[in-house]
Amino acid sequence: MPGIAINAARLNRTLDELGKFGETPEGMDRLAFSPADIESREYTMGLMREAGLEVRIDTGGNIIGRKAGADDSLPAIALGSHTDTVPLGGKYDGALGVMGAIEVVKTLAENGHVTRHPIEAIVFTNEEGTRFHRWLIGSRAMAGMLEPEDLTAVDAEGVSLAERMGDIGGDLSRVDEAARKPGELAAYFELHIEQGPYLYRSGTPIGVVTGITGRAVFELDVNGMSNHAGTTPMSERRDALVAASKLVVQVQKMAAEDEICRVATAGALDVTPNAVNVVPGRATVGVEFRDLEMSALEAAERELTRVARQSEEDDRVEITINRHRFTDPVPIVPGMQDWVGEAAERAEFTWERVPSGAGHDAQAIATIAPMAMLFVPSVEGISHAVQEYSSPEDCANGTQVLLELLLLADERL
Ligand SMILES: [Zn+2]
Repeated sequence: MPGIAINAARLNRTLDELGKFGETPEGMDRLAFSPADIESREYTMGLMREAGLEVRIDTGGNIIGRKAGADDSLPAIALGSHTDTVPLGGKYDGALGVMGAIEVVKTLAENGHVTRHPIEAIVFTNEEGTRFHRWLIGSRAMAGMLEPEDLTAVDAEGVSLAERMGDIGGDLSRVDEAARKPGELAAYFELHIEQGPYLYRSGTPIGVVTGITGRAVFELDVNGMSNHAGTTPMSERRDALVAASKLVVQVQKMAAEDEICRVATAGALDVTPNAVNVVPGRATVGVEFRDLEMSALEAAERELTRVARQSEEDDRVEITINRHRFTDPVPIVPGMQDWVGEAAERAEFTWERVPSGAGHDAQAIATIAPMAMLFVPSVEGISHAVQEYSSPEDCANGTQVLLELLLLADERL
C-alpha cells in the first residue's frame, strides 16, 4: 500500500480546468505564446502557489515552482512537462505531467512530508514548436542547447521569438541565464501520456520508458524529364513520380517487413509540374525514420541510399538525398528505468517497458541531469487530436507512481 496517497479527484479537476483554456469543439488550441497559453500559465502558477511552491519565470519563459528541502544545499529533484498544445491537439499531452507534478507537491505538503532535496515543478516553454517550427524551446534553453536559428526565429505572423518570449515573462536577450549547470538538478522525472497504443492494448497501467526515439529526416529530390503525356511512348519516359512512388513503398517496407528501424514514413510528396497531362519531371519525397538506436537510423540511411541508386538505374532518374535533420536517440539508463518500475510496484501497479516514439522535454534535460519518464495509457493510442484521452484512473495512477518515484529518489540520491 502506498504510504501517502495523491488526491485523484483533485488531480482530475485541475486537468479539466486546464483543459478549458483554448478548448474548441475540434480540439485544444493552446499554441505556445497564444492568449490561451498565457491564461493557462497564470492558472498553473496559481496552483503552484497554492501547493506551497515559490514561483519564478526564467529567461527562457519556463515556469519554475520550487519548494525547499530539509537540506536545501542538495540539488533539486525536478518534475515537469509542458502545457502548450499543437493546433487541434488534446487535453492530456504535457498537461498531465504538469498537473501531476503539482498534485505530488500538494499531497506531500498536506501530509507534512518534507523531502531532503528541494523539489521543482517545471512548465517548459513551447515544447510542441508548432510556432516558429522550433521545438523544446524552454527545455533546450535550460539545457544550454539553443541554436542561433532559435534566437532569430520569426513566426508565421511575422513576430519574433524574442517578442513572444517577452509576452510570457521571458527574455531572449538573456536566455543563456536560463541554462542550469550539470549537477544543479539531482534528477528530472516526467509523467506523460504514451501517445501510442501499446499500454492501452496490453492493459498495463504504467509504462517505464526505455528511451526517446531518435529521428532522421531526409528529402529525396527525384529528377526525370517532363514531357507530353500523349506523345511520349511509355518506353521512353523518365517519370519522376513513378520512381518516387516506388521509393515510398520501399521506405514502408524498410520498417514493416525488413525491420531495419522501428518506424519509417514517407509523409510528404511534391510533384512538378503536377498536371494530369504531363509526365512528371520532378518529385520530392519527405522521409523520416525513428528508432531508439543510432545504428538503426544509420542502417536505414544506408538502405535508403541503396534503393535510391537502384531506382536511378531502373527508372532512369537522378536522385539527390538531402539529409535534413538527425535527432539522436536518448536512451534512459537501465538503473533509472528500474527506479520507475520499483515506484510502480510500491504503488501496486503492474508495469512494462515501452519506448517513446514522440519527443519530450526530458530529452533535452537528460543532457544536464539523470532522467526518467513514465507513461500512462492513451485510449486507442490517439494523440495530437481531439480524441486524445487517458482515463481519470490512469492519470491518477501515473501521478501516484510519480510521487513514489520522487520519494524513492529522495531516499537514494
Ligand atoms: Zn508532450
